[in-house]
Amino acid sequence: MPAHYDLIIRNGTCVLPWTTEATDVGVRDGRIIALGVPGDATSDRVFDAKGLHVLPGLIDPHVHFRDPGDPAVESIPTGSKGAILGGLATVFDMPNTDPSMVDAAGMAWKREYVERVSWCDMGIYVGGTKTNIPELGKLELTCGCCGIKIFAGSSTGNLMVEDDEHLEKVMRSGRRRIAYHSEDEYRLQARKPNYKVGDPYSYHMEWRDEECAFLGTRRLMALARKTGRPAHILHVSTRQEFDYLKEYRDIATAEVLVNHLTQFAPDCYEKLGGFAVMNPPIRGKEHMEAAWRAVNDGLVDTIGSDHAPHSREKKMLPWPNCASGLTGVQTLVPVMLNHVNNGRLSLNRMVDLMAAGPARVYGAVGKGRMAAGNDGDFTIVDMKKQRRIEESWIVSPVGWTPFAGMDITGWPVATIIRGTVVMRDDEIQGEPIGKLAKFVG
Ligand SMILES: [Zn+2]
Repeated sequence: MPAHYDLIIRNGTCVLPWTTEATDVGVRDGRIIALGVPGDATSDRVFDAKGLHVLPGLIDPHVHFRDPGDPAVESIPTGSKGAILGGLATVFDMPNTDPSMVDAAGMAWKREYVERVSWCDMGIYVGGTKTNIPELGKLELTCGCCGIKIFAGSSTGNLMVEDDEHLEKVMRSGRRRIAYHSEDEYRLQARKPNYKVGDPYSYHMEWRDEECAFLGTRRLMALARKTGRPAHILHVSTRQEFDYLKEYRDIATAEVLVNHLTQFAPDCYEKLGGFAVMNPPIRGKEHMEAAWRAVNDGLVDTIGSDHAPHSREKKMLPWPNCASGLTGVQTLVPVMLNHVNNGRLSLNRMVDLMAAGPARVYGAVGKGRMAAGNDGDFTIVDMKKQRRIEESWIVSPVGWTPFAGMDITGWPVATIIRGTVVMRDDEIQGEPIGKLAKFVG
């Protein structure tokens, strides 16, 4: 009797961990059963991927869906819709919500909520504070938790651990890799009086200069070595840090943001004003080129969007009162595919950074590579499709993107999660089926 599957993806060019080849993929009960499906196999559904590339379901390991918070800005229902429209199967959501996700009750609420309303699979960070350190070792092992997030600078609410004494205590609290926002809070505060309201938006990168980020990373690396606790440095943004982190591969992994690979100063501040303001800041071209070198040297492990929406009103306030943070979950995959088509990186390296990388760094189970037994998650892309990024396409309630007007070659045309097609040709399919991702504890 011929084999039967729930879904067969036929005729696509599959990006596998070891090669890129034309093969068919069979999915049953939400998992990949076979690479290379006999022609006589039957299935409930066939996805014809002729002329398309089949990638493992891509992961954005750095989003702020701001839920609970202000649904007029973002929420898990709207943010996860943006994710699947943009070709992402899984996102990891940050804890600086209102209230912050810093205790067992908050995490329990969020787990239940995610599985009720999310359109994509999700991992959830637990935030470290100076007061929840004794619980962190347990909290990081709760179901769906992708790890601890520490804001070592750039606080939001109660989420800040800026001093070495508390940072060391956090590092001794458990054993999983910790994700850090690395900017030295003391230097940020010390430099603040040098500036005044109404200074040019480009002063954002003067205030939060290279040394703010580099000093933060040097302090974290010293403590990580001392304690032996693995670190993941989020949004590395300086040439200095990329050089330095090469000496810390035993203890540290690194993330780069799509913005730091795509936008640069002063151009971005001239064109976008407050809509280019984020932390750490977008800097001059030498740092963008250093980020690309680090991508192509293999130093970088993951690429994220740091999707962090704010209302247009808050972005249009004079600097430094304008809110920091940019939308990006929906545009991450198209912008990266455009970089592939421009020869900046290979499609295989992009998949390594956006699927295998996040799965490896955070220990996500069944995600990140197209292989038998793994989740039937796929991002199907048309590498030839040309399209302009329009704000009318953005489903985040704030409705803006710093990439508006960018002409893209290469576009996600379908998102498949555990064998279910959730987006095809810009159309959302069915009901939300997102689940919590699983992690090695
Ligand atoms: Zn962030």
